Amino acid sequence: MRRTDTWNVYSEAQLAELEKICVDYKKFLNCGKTERECVKETVRLAREAGYVSLEEAREAGRALTAGDRVYEICMNKMIVLFHIGREPLERGMRILGAHIDSPRFDVKQNPLYEDGGLAYFDTHYYGGVKKYQWPTVPLALHGVIVKKNGETVELRIGEDADDPVVFISDLLVHLAGEQMEKKARVVIDGETMDVVVGSRPWKKESSAKKADGGTASEPGDSADGSQEKEGSLKDKAKDLVRENILRILEERYGIEEEDFLSAEIEAVPAGKARDCGLDRSMVLSYGQDDRVCAYTSLLALLETDTQDRTCCCLLVDKEETGSVGATSMKSRFFENTVAELMDCAGQYSELKLRRCLANSSMLSSDVSAAFDPMFAGCFEKKNTAYLGKGLTLSKYTGARGKRSTNDANAEFIAQIRRIFEERDVAFQTAELGRVDVGGGGTISYITALYGMNVIDSGVPVMNMHAPMEVTSKADIYEAKRGYQAFLMEA
Ligand SMILES: [Zn+2]
Repeated sequence: MRRTDTWNVYSEAQLAELEKICVDYKKFLNCGKTERECVKETVRLAREAGYVSLEEAREAGRALTAGDRVYEICMNKMIVLFHIGREPLERGMRILGAHIDSPRFDVKQNPLYEDGGLAYFDTHYYGGVKKYQWPTVPLALHGVIVKKNGETVELRIGEDADDPVVFISDLLVHLAGEQMEKKARVVIDGETMDVVVGSRPWKKESSAKKADGGTASEPGDSADGSQEKEGSLKDKAKDLVRENILRILEERYGIEEEDFLSAEIEAVPAGKARDCGLDRSMVLSYGQDDRVCAYTSLLALLETDTQDRTCCCLLVDKEETGSVGATSMKSRFFENTVAELMDCAGQYSELKLRRCLANSSMLSSDVSAAFDPMFAGCFEKKNTAYLGKGLTLSKYTGARGKRSTNDANAEFIAQIRRIFEERDVAFQTAELGRVDVGGGGTISYITALYGMNVIDSGVPVMNMHAPMEVTSKADIYEAKRGYQAFLMEA
């Protein structure tokens, strides 16, 4: 019988294992708040588990064979890992695919301005957000600034306890009579969602003093710099707060205003992932869609021994903006890398590559919506996911008549059911909400184009796409178990 019981059937050993996975998962969330940071952490964990880059494997000069573990990165935002199996690759792979981008506010290319004595970074939101949820939340700035000379400055401000944070403002309730009458969709205008980054004007004397002290070894440069500053200040005496932010950026990070042109800076909720509930049964954190599936997929791969079929974990970017672009699921990166992999294993031909992709099967590991009793009317109770009832299988997603969705084959679902039951994985089946209430998409319809079997399977999330999302620890545990069962038995 299908098992949806979780908490009360676990042994002490299982509860300890569950807790350990969730402690490590929270660490992953804390150091992976952007797709770049997730790739970096994934590489660190993979290398610890014996993975090498495909390039390193190629340089080693021998053909890849069963048991070899390799990874390949695309533009620091997307990564694929393979654990070579005993059978030829053309027999197909077992793929776990998740996405590592999350909704947030991206800093524009020309972001810095001053208004009303405040300095701002202008932003453009990324992914689907209820805009009213984001003002007044403490935000951190994460990202990279790539200088013209190619040097990359990494930015991570707002995560350490004594770091400053930034915020998007909202109108005080006393003056919000008109605002409160507006529809939620327009109550906050996207263009006004700029991040406040400062309020203190630049003071010539103290700054010059500081600059002298800071660059004592090169007094000439410092004097020149101060003179330049003085000149620009005369022109825009009213933008002294903005000027001060520029000076801080220059002193602390060695960047100038033009460097924003080649930067990717994301404003994300500041702070750490935390246990949630008096019983500590849940995790509350930013970015769990879809890092909860990304992390459990990765862990499942890293902890699985060599199998007959090659096992693969694919972590992609840009799912939240429609899977478009070089680092998205729609790019050729995955296909090209499989071709490279087959070449490194001495098994490449165009036909074998096609066979490999078509004979593969995949769990598209993406989150589903957890039933929320406070909004019960938006769910259909028989076909919805519940927190703590295990890994969720969604045969299809889509909206308005199952549009634009992968619809997993019944034969494939039967196989997955059998595997989960044999391995005692708690799972449930669900659609995303009531018919015609809304809908969502994942990457499953894209890999399905190769003719492979794909089904969406993931962890139910409450408050999806809000600054803070909630998952059940039991579902996190079952997801990892389910993904591992799939790699071993499918
Ligand atoms: Zn999402």
